[in-house]
Amino acid sequence: MRYLVISDIHANLEAFEAVMAAAQPLKYDKVLLLGDLVGYGADPNAICDLVRQMKPDALIRGNHDKVGSGVESPEGFNAVARNAIKWTCDTLTRDNREWLAALPAGPLIVDDLIEICHGTPFDEDAYVFDDLDALRAMHAARRPLCLFGHTHVQVGHYLSRDQFGLATADDERPLTITLDDANRYLVNPGSVGQPRDGDPRAGFGMVDTARRDMTIYRVEYPIPKAQARILEEGLPEVLAQRLALGR
Ligand code: ZN
Repeated sequence: MRYLVISDIHANLEAFEAVMAAAQPLKYDKVLLLGDLVGYGADPNAICDLVRQMKPDALIRGNHDKVGSGVESPEGFNAVARNAIKWTCDTLTRDNREWLAALPAGPLIVDDLIEICHGTPFDEDAYVFDDLDALRAMHAARRPLCLFGHTHVQVGHYLSRDQFGLATADDERPLTITLDDANRYLVNPGSVGQPRDGDPRAGFGMVDTARRDMTIYRVEYPIPKAQARILEEGLPEVLAQRLALGR
C-alpha cells in the first residue's frame, strides 16, 4: 500500500496543483490529509472542491478549518491570521463551510502502521516545536508511525530503545526514512501551501507500507501566481511575501 500524505494546503491552489502533479507519477493507492485546507490563501472554495472530488481515504480537520467554518472563534489567532480567516469564512460557499465544519477531529488510526493528527495525538491544536513536544507526541501515539502537520515544518523524529533523534537531518530532498519495526516515528510531511522551514517549495510525503519507508518531497510551484491571487483578494500583503521566504 502506498499513501500520499498531504497537510496544510491553506487555500493555495497553485501549490496544491503542483503537489498533485508531482505525486501522480509516483503512484499511490490512498490519500491521507492532515488538516488546514483553508486559511491564509486565496482559493478556499477551489481547494474544498478539489479535495471533495479527490475523496481522501483519511481526512481530519485543522485549526483553520474549525475557525474558517465557524466551529470555533478566532480567539488565539494573531491579527493577520484573524483577518485572513474572517475573509475565508465570508468567502466559503455555504456548502463548503458546512462540509468543513463536519470534518472529524484527529487523531485517526489509519492501519496497523499509521496514525494521523493535525497537531499532536493528545491535542489536535498543540504544536510540536521541540524535542520534548515530539517525545510527548510519540508516547501518546497508538501506532509506530504518527503523521502530523500544523507547524509547517518538514521533519521526522525517531525513537528507538536507547535513542531519540532526527530522521531528517539531511537537507537533500527527496529523502527516504527507513521505518525500522523496533522504532517509533513522528513525521511531518511539510506544508503544501505555506512552508515555514525556510524552503519555499511545497512539501508532501509518501509512505510505502510494503517497503516500510516514508519519503518526503519538495516541489517548486508558481509562487508569484499564488502571491498575486492573495493581493487580488485584498488579503494581508505579508501573507503573499512570506510564501517567497518559506517563513
Ligand atoms: Zn496550518
